Amino acid sequence: MKRRDLIRGIGIGAAAVAASACGRRTADGGHGMSTGTFTWRLVTTWPPNFPGLGTGAVEFAKQIEDCSGGRLKIRVYGDGELVPAFETFDAVSGGTAEMGHGAAYYWKGKVPAASFFAAIPFGFVAQEMNAWFYQGGGLELWQEAYAPFGLLPLPCGNSGTQMGGWFRREIRSLADIRGLKMRIPALGGEVMARAGATPVTMPGSEIFTALQTGAIDATEWIGPYNDLAFGFHKAAKFYYYPGWHEPGPTLELIINRRAWDALPADLQAIVAACASATNDRMSAEFMARNAEALETLVRDHGVQLRAFPDDVMQALRRFSAEILEENAARDPLFRRVLDSVQAFRARMTPYFDIAERAYLNSRG
Ligand code: CA
Repeated sequence: MKRRDLIRGIGIGAAAVAASACGRRTADGGHGMSTGTFTWRLVTTWPPNFPGLGTGAVEFAKQIEDCSGGRLKIRVYGDGELVPAFETFDAVSGGTAEMGHGAAYYWKGKVPAASFFAAIPFGFVAQEMNAWFYQGGGLELWQEAYAPFGLLPLPCGNSGTQMGGWFRREIRSLADIRGLKMRIPALGGEVMARAGATPVTMPGSEIFTALQTGAIDATEWIGPYNDLAFGFHKAAKFYYYPGWHEPGPTLELIINRRAWDALPADLQAIVAACASATNDRMSAEFMARNAEALETLVRDHGVQLRAFPDDVMQALRRFSAEILEENAARDPLFRRVLDSVQAFRARMTPYFDIAERAYLNSRG
């Protein structure tokens, strides 16, 4: 499969069609709808109906059914209902399910560059992620990375900038990071290890007990909306920001390539349009709900909100740059994607600094 075919198949072409109208010229040369009906399975890495992420996948499925007049029905499965969360990638690649919803950094063991398509430490915020995907070549690189697995990826949600995490003890300087046992996955975990912490990974369902019993000293999770629901404030008092390790994580839709090819063009356009709509809708939900939940955590639960000290942020930034370069030296695709991200950032930053950043600073 040539890369250009993939792009034409789902990325720029389908997104452009979806933006202009929910339909496109069909094989018979008209603008009519296809007549066949399809039932697809959507497996997710989230607990069933998990706020924001799981519920977002359910809304995405419903929108596809509504837009297609029931010609494409989507059955949504939470973690463990069809396959375990971390088998989502293989399940869609192998055809057990036609679609999956999760986060690309879960698959960095299979595709080292995958982290870029979710979040990297000190990387892009949500707005920049979308600009890179749609205007900066990011989506093409993502499609190229997943093509060997017979998968087509699309952005399908963003949690916004996350929180730095919950800590049982106050962090006054870099020295307080040393020796901490913290639940933090992916590249962020590698960075914390270099800062002297011991990163651990565990499923979301196990974190609360580990934190409450002191088996771990700290954990990152998502942001106030989800963290409040998990009750982390009952196990740790200090809530740190910013989420340097996940500044604007994109959630992914992955589609089995054979299933996609068997889908009529009008239904393909609907899937692409609904993924784009979900990308926006989920961002809006997280922004609004995180703000409400943070207020509740501080006002009603006495949570101590803290910014990471300057020396901690400086060290984490330096270690992140080192770790990205070391990964790039080991994997050619990681190198190309890192180059793309850095070049796009260099082009965007001069304007972003005098636009969004300057404005937000001035608004007070
Ligand atoms: Ca997180």
